[in-house]
Amino acid sequence: MGVRVVATLLSVGVAAATAAATVAAWDAGPDATTGGSGGGRCPTGRAAPSWAPNRCYVACPPRAVRTDPSTCVHTIRWRGNTHLWVANGAVTLLARSTSPAARAAAAALNGTACRDAWESGMWGEDLLGRADNPLDGDRRGTHFFNARGVRYDGRKTSVVTYTYLWKSTDNSALKEMATLVSRLGSLIDPSVETCKTLGAALHYVTDMMPFHSSGYSAFSSPPLLHAVAEYYVPTIQAAHPPVGGWSSTSGPGRGAGVEAAFVAASVESNKLAPALISAFADGDGDDSCTMTPDAPVVYRGYCFLGDPAVDREVGRALALGYDTTATWLAELWRTKAMT
Ligand SMILES: [Zn+2]
Repeated sequence: MGVRVVATLLSVGVAAATAAATVAAWDAGPDATTGGSGGGRCPTGRAAPSWAPNRCYVACPPRAVRTDPSTCVHTIRWRGNTHLWVANGAVTLLARSTSPAARAAAAALNGTACRDAWESGMWGEDLLGRADNPLDGDRRGTHFFNARGVRYDGRKTSVVTYTYLWKSTDNSALKEMATLVSRLGSLIDPSVETCKTLGAALHYVTDMMPFHSSGYSAFSSPPLLHAVAEYYVPTIQAAHPPVGGWSSTSGPGRGAGVEAAFVAASVESNKLAPALISAFADGDGDDSCTMTPDAPVVYRGYCFLGDPAVDREVGRALALGYDTTATWLAELWRTKAMT
């Protein structure tokens, strides 16, 4: 999911749902110990905002600014691309492997012309017409795939994508990936066209992160957390580089082909969803922050920036993503380029 879907949500009433969400009350009254005058000397845990220098409000979390008595606004840069980051982590792992298929895949993806093409193909899958769009039956669910049959909240489900106004779909990221793989030309000295298609397929492989594998959409509670979390991850992902190597024999999804590798990626990331979402949504306090990924759509919820639990769970999901994406690429080369 990406910017386009957030924009789409504008027109289908998530703004209303967001407004209805309960917001934990801040202690916005005068500080008891000073009788209402902060005077620049607020006690620990309280701070006077620039627009009310004589009052002490509960201090906003790090990197958040109080804009009114009840609102802390997260300040982050809305850019970054976790798809590319995860794919590069996978290529790094493959290049460290002794497996011929792994090394051939890494060499191909690191070729200058091929890299330009696959990065472009990967990016293009989140653009208009290819993005996941809950309002478009042809695209609804296309970036989601739940192979484990368990939702993010622990309930069993037969819905492999996500639930939107009780509409079902035959789409899934698995189908998108399989269709794109069927269009690939030779992977030995791959053409620019094949590299572009490979990048498009890799988009769906790198979508197999916990939200997309557990039906946790932007409609899930709290509304828009899916979107703002995806905006946040690029700002912390560099703290979680790929470590260690990649084994062609041990680990999920090895040795059974491209689709099995994709299914394994979904199953394993699905297991990480509850802890990841809990870290983002529940946190350790009753504070409430807003984010505006696409004005005027506003996310309102737990102030998660800088939360160590969020950082830890994101790190786990990224490490799994490097491994499962590397496995998918190695299986692709093993089955299609090493014969
Ligand atoms: Zn996607």
